[in-house]
Amino acid sequence: MTKAVVLGSGIIGLYTVFHLLEKQIKPSDITVVAEYFADDQSINYTSPWAGGNFCAISPSDPLSLEMDKFTYLNLFKVQKALGGPEKSGLDMMPMTEFWDYDPPSEKLKSLQSYLKDFKILSRDELAKKNEPKIKFGISYTTWNFNCPFFLKKMSDYMRSKGILFVQRKLTHISQAFLDESTKVVFNCTGIGARDLVKDHNVFPGRGQVVVIKAPHIKENCVRWGKSTATYIIPRPYSQDSLVLGGFIQKDCWSGDTYGDQTEDILRRTTALLPQILEQNAHGSRIEDLEIKRVAAGLRPYRHGGPRVEEEQLPEGKSVVHCYGQAGTGYQSGMGWTNTATDLWLRRRSSKL
Ligand SMILES: Cc1cc2nc3c(=O)[nH]c(=O)nc-3n(C[C@H](O)[C@H](O)[C@H](O)COP(=O)(O)OP(=O)(O)OC[C@H]3O[C@@H](n4cnc5c(N)ncnc54)[C@H](O)[C@@H]3O)c2cc1C
Repeated sequence: MTKAVVLGSGIIGLYTVFHLLEKQIKPSDITVVAEYFADDQSINYTSPWAGGNFCAISPSDPLSLEMDKFTYLNLFKVQKALGGPEKSGLDMMPMTEFWDYDPPSEKLKSLQSYLKDFKILSRDELAKKNEPKIKFGISYTTWNFNCPFFLKKMSDYMRSKGILFVQRKLTHISQAFLDESTKVVFNCTGIGARDLVKDHNVFPGRGQVVVIKAPHIKENCVRWGKSTATYIIPRPYSQDSLVLGGFIQKDCWSGDTYGDQTEDILRRTTALLPQILEQNAHGSRIEDLEIKRVAAGLRPYRHGGPRVEEEQLPEGKSVVHCYGQAGTGYQSGMGWTNTATDLWLRRRSSKL
């Protein structure tokens, strides 16, 4: 007897479950249904491939900025529930971001209002990068996720509370209503929503990352160029993995990885943070870096932004859609899923 089904076991589905538990829904009333779970790997399962950190990637509209803020300020609750930084694979680390143009002022204003240790870099500090195209920079303390580990720990925590996980691929959303007692389905299917609910606004933003061994790098660094995004993301408690990226290739469905993209990523990231090579234990050439893996993932982009809305069905049932978080699922997802769960709970104000 399941009253709430969460369809999807990516970061959005798991944040949804976290909020349902926080809002006093009984674990025995929740079931997670998904084709892929934390230990699985597929190009149709984006979450394990993420960098992942909190950065200034989000759009600058007020809603997106609010979702980032909510997540940044509430992630410590997830970290605590999972047993702290090491047990969750979620930790805070220094971040520096650079732009080759002036970033939108509304974004800066928002970030400035809540980011820990936020600072706008001075001209002298920018000049130290020795890169004339860089126009603006900020530093702050950010969140870093060890994504595959974090997903696993979230799922383990939920299982330990008594939540049922059912592995199944659905061909129609109605199949998520497991029995007559199912009142609500949270549709957290990411890129899968394109097929499942025929939402053709959903499209992929392919990314490729190179994971190297670099125990000496303990800081994030991002550069926003006019047509490139370059990022360096340490993966907390991961045996020294450093994630280097990246690409955002819209409408590209390929799960393959490409040698020329790997070379480009290594060139851009080592130029951005020369310490990667300078302090590398095995030598200071790009060829001396120890590559652990190269991977590609599809960010669930959506024309018009994420879909977070309730679709009411007969007999008091409903589907609450929550997908399309593009390149921000980890850093904004708590905000979107808090809204999604509230949509359903507030409207009814009845308890499950
Ligand atoms: C290279 C790269 C780097 C990134 N870096 C960051 C970062 O640093 N910070 C950040 O915040 N975000 C980052 N992202 C974005 C982030 O990974 C996504 O926003 C997020 O993973 C989307 O999560 P999701 O739960 O919506 O989708 P998914 O993780 O794809 O999960 C979807 C779930 O739905 C299930 N599902 C789908 N269709 C069906 C069906 N028909 N039947 C049953 N189950 C189904 C799947 O099996 C899966 O369990 C990055 C992404 C990439 C690719």
